[in-house]
Amino acid sequence: MKYIDEFRNQQLVQTLINEIKTVSKKPVRLMEICGGHTMAIHKFGLKSLLPENITLLSGPGCPVCVTDQKYIDTAIAFSRVKDVIITTFGDLMRVPGSSSTLAGEKAQGSDIRMVYTPSDAVSLAQENPGKKIIFLGIGFETTAPTVAASIEQARAEKVKNYYVYSAHKLMPPAMEALINEGVKIDGYICPGHVSTITGAGIYEPFPRKFKVGCVVSGFEPVDLLQTILMLVKQFEAGKPAVEIQYKRAVKPEGNLLARQIMNEVFQPGDDLWRGLGIIKNSGLKMKPEFKEFDVEVNIDVKAEKTVYNKGCVCGDVLKGLITPKKCKLFGKVCTPASPVGACMVSSEGACAAYYQYD
Ligand code: SF4
Repeated sequence: MKYIDEFRNQQLVQTLINEIKTVSKKPVRLMEICGGHTMAIHKFGLKSLLPENITLLSGPGCPVCVTDQKYIDTAIAFSRVKDVIITTFGDLMRVPGSSSTLAGEKAQGSDIRMVYTPSDAVSLAQENPGKKIIFLGIGFETTAPTVAASIEQARAEKVKNYYVYSAHKLMPPAMEALINEGVKIDGYICPGHVSTITGAGIYEPFPRKFKVGCVVSGFEPVDLLQTILMLVKQFEAGKPAVEIQYKRAVKPEGNLLARQIMNEVFQPGDDLWRGLGIIKNSGLKMKPEFKEFDVEVNIDVKAEKTVYNKGCVCGDVLKGLITPKKCKLFGKVCTPASPVGACMVSSEGACAAYYQYD
């Protein structure tokens, strides 16, 4: 199968492992920011193949995981408003809020529906003119353009009952926040999907300002091992740089059209991250000229006070400070069937990856 078999080729994998072992001498800490990379690393058992001096850390790149509990509590409050239909992608349904989940609210009678694209939510709004349709817009630069496109579609088609609750996030401010917080990172395995939209230019400050290398990676074993080799070579040579390993999908300039749509509708603003707190200019807020689609401007709710589960240490997991197995609840109280925190719910969560594959 083209683009799969060659990237899972055992001989190639072994050659890369041998080369990494030859090149890598010093202890080095590399962070995979993207939840998709975390899953792939665990699914293919890549950690066990690497020499002991290479530490892989999981970072804040799972869209569901970084969405703060306060957002879930507010989404639940919106779901209780009369004549509201909440639309969302699947993973968010089971993320615990302070006293409920969206799935729990659905079971209690709230109208909450899973959609495959934000455009489906716009169609739902057209089919239900007497209802208010709210799309829960979470994720990074990867999903923000499609949500922006849905807002432009709603405007073009004069849809008056479509709203977005935006918690979209930008990757570079979180990467910088981790470094500023003192998390020791020698190289970033940069997210492939985000970079297809943004290009690699967003990572330029990291080698320059922080001496941290950045390599944009694909998701197959050969991709990830090539990326690790590239980062290790940079580190050993003392020459951090921005490079693209995932050239079959990522262009240096990214997807200009997607970026344009995103920038037409959204502008950067401070945003709250699970575990990381408020990071300056790390979110995408709707521009004032699109406020008719901003649910926070149009529908008033009072969410319950957010109470965090003290036992759940998702925040430390997302910062790469601890591995999931260091959480006292891991695998006992907290499992994919009965998740306590977002990192165990999401198909890209670090706790779910450790539970499923380690
Ligand atoms: S194992 Fe569960 S409770 Fe612990 S950090 Fe992960 S999601 Fe939170």
